[in-house]
Amino acid sequence: MSKVDTAIAIKTCPCCAGINFEQQKIIWDELAAEWDLSKSERKYIDRQQGLQCTNCRANLRSMCLAAAIINIYNFKGTLQNSVKKMKRKLSVLEINEAGTLSEYFANFNRHTLAKYPDVKIENLPYMDNEFNLVIHSDTLEHVKDPIKGLKEVHRVLKPGGFTLYTIPIILDRLSKRRVGKKSYHGSPGNDEYQVITEYGADMWTQLMDAGFNECRLITIDYPASIAIIGCKPKQ
Ligand SMILES: [Zn+2]
Repeated sequence: MSKVDTAIAIKTCPCCAGINFEQQKIIWDELAAEWDLSKSERKYIDRQQGLQCTNCRANLRSMCLAAAIINIYNFKGTLQNSVKKMKRKLSVLEINEAGTLSEYFANFNRHTLAKYPDVKIENLPYMDNEFNLVIHSDTLEHVKDPIKGLKEVHRVLKPGGFTLYTIPIILDRLSKRRVGKKSYHGSPGNDEYQVITEYGADMWTQLMDAGFNECRLITIDYPASIAIIGCKPKQ
C-alpha cells in the first residue's frame, strides 16, 4: 500500500454515529507550495480539514478529538451521549473553539471557552490545577512559544488531567519554524492565522519539554487524523 492510501478509514462519526461523509477541498495551491507539500501530503491534509460528517458537520479533526475523549474516559457510544454522563465530573477548558465540538462541551457543568486574542495560551488567566481536561484544536502551530503554551496548559490542569489537541502534522519530516516568508492557514494574509511552526514527526517532544510525562496518539483515519493526548502526572 502506498502512502497515498488511507491505511485506516473512518466508518462511523464518533460525535453522532453518522456513517456518511463528504470531502471538501481546503488546501489552495499557494499554501501547498509554501508548505512544500507532496501530492499525497496535500491529500491527507485536505482530508484532515475537509472531510465532514454529513449529519453533524464535524470535520475529521473534530471527530478525532471526540474519539480521543471517548478513549481516555473509557466511554462507549458517541460523544453526544458521553458528555451527558461526564457532565458533573469534569471541568473543561476549551482554548479557541474546537470546531463543532463546542456545542457538546457547552453541556458540561464547568465549561470555559477561552478565545484568542482575549486569552492567549501562553498566559492563561486561570488558577493552578483547575481543569480535568484542556482541549485545543489547530492552535499551537500559530503560537510564538508553543512550549510556554503547553507549560501553561500543564499548570492549569489537575494532577492526572489530560490535554487533548490537534495540529497539522506532516509525518515524514521534522518540525520547523517558519522563517522568512509568512504562511497562513484559514485565510491568506490574516495575521491571526499566521503559521509559526510547521509540525512534523517530533511534535510529541514539546509535551515532554512542557512537563507532561506521557504522550498518546490516537487516529480514526490514518494518516489524515491524529489526536495528541498529554497526561499530567498524578503526583
Ligand atoms: Zn457526526
